[in-house]
Amino acid sequence: IPPVIALEDVSVVFGGKVRALDGVSLHLHRGEIVGLVGESGSGKSTLCRTLMGLGEPTSGTVTVDGEPLGARLARDRLGFRREVQMLLQDAVASLSPRMRVRKLVEEPLDVHRLPLEDGRARIEVLLKRLGLPANAMEKFPHQLSGGQARRVAILRALVLRSQVIVADEPTAGLDVSVQGELLNLMLDLHAEFTLTYLIVSHNLNVIRRITTRSVVMYLGQVVEEASTAALFRTPAHPYTAALLSTNPVVDPAKRRKRIVLHGEIPSPINLPSGCRFHTRCPRAAARCAQEVPQLRSVGEGQSVRCHFPLTDDMVAA
Ligand code: SF4
Ligand code: MG
Repeated sequence: IPPVIALEDVSVVFGGKVRALDGVSLHLHRGEIVGLVGESGSGKSTLCRTLMGLGEPTSGTVTVDGEPLGARLARDRLGFRREVQMLLQDAVASLSPRMRVRKLVEEPLDVHRLPLEDGRARIEVLLKRLGLPANAMEKFPHQLSGGQARRVAILRALVLRSQVIVADEPTAGLDVSVQGELLNLMLDLHAEFTLTYLIVSHNLNVIRRITTRSVVMYLGQVVEEASTAALFRTPAHPYTAALLSTNPVVDPAKRRKRIVLHGEIPSPINLPSGCRFHTRCPRAAARCAQEVPQLRSVGEGQSVRCHFPLTDDMVAA
């Protein structure tokens, strides 16, 4: 079975010089929950736009169920738009401010020319399933809590029977208890509707909580990919290790020695030579500024782009 969405060696260059993505391959299999991690400027947004067909790769290919994305869009643009939906970071702002929830959740039916009666019945069921109060239907977006606005956005996707959900910072701005509830709900819906998730987040606790595989990006490249369990247990890339070391953990025994990265992420217009991370890497050696590291396997399902990857004994917490 081909992946539901696959990027192969995708590069996106803006204006001939801004390398937003460089040789990125990413496979999303049906039913998977994949996490995408990286600072702003790492290319996460461009990657999401590319896999949603909102921007064309400069080189490389994107396929949907094995079919080139361009062909799929030409054949069935609306169908693809139904199947793959994005949840934006600012849920309230992503909902039209002058529409009541009722209109907001019925609008996708209209756009996709689906029968209103069937859709309304489905909305009733989903409203309860998502734990939204019945009176939510009469509210405007600004009258919803952050958690409710996210549920409405999810409802808009589920009413269309979307299969793939790309969620950008799904819990940003929510209280910790509401975050937990929302993530549990997303996990339940994932199981119930066999959804595929790509979760884009800075919040490593979110990534750890719900994803099974994680991809770490830095300056337009994948620098590490692993099962989420392996990534958190034994990160192999110094950048991943640095991110994990700054992640707040409750259990003091699991706290890692904090690795402070110096400086900002460099500009994609003026990329560092050799390893793109060498200007900030605590392990950088002379070779790192000269020789470009390739992504290579360091264990079951784990790949890293580094000349001197960390080994298990170095990172044991
Ligand atoms: Fe650091 Fe060198 Fe590895 Fe790059 S290749 S991450 S600079 S050790
Ligand atoms: Mg972004």
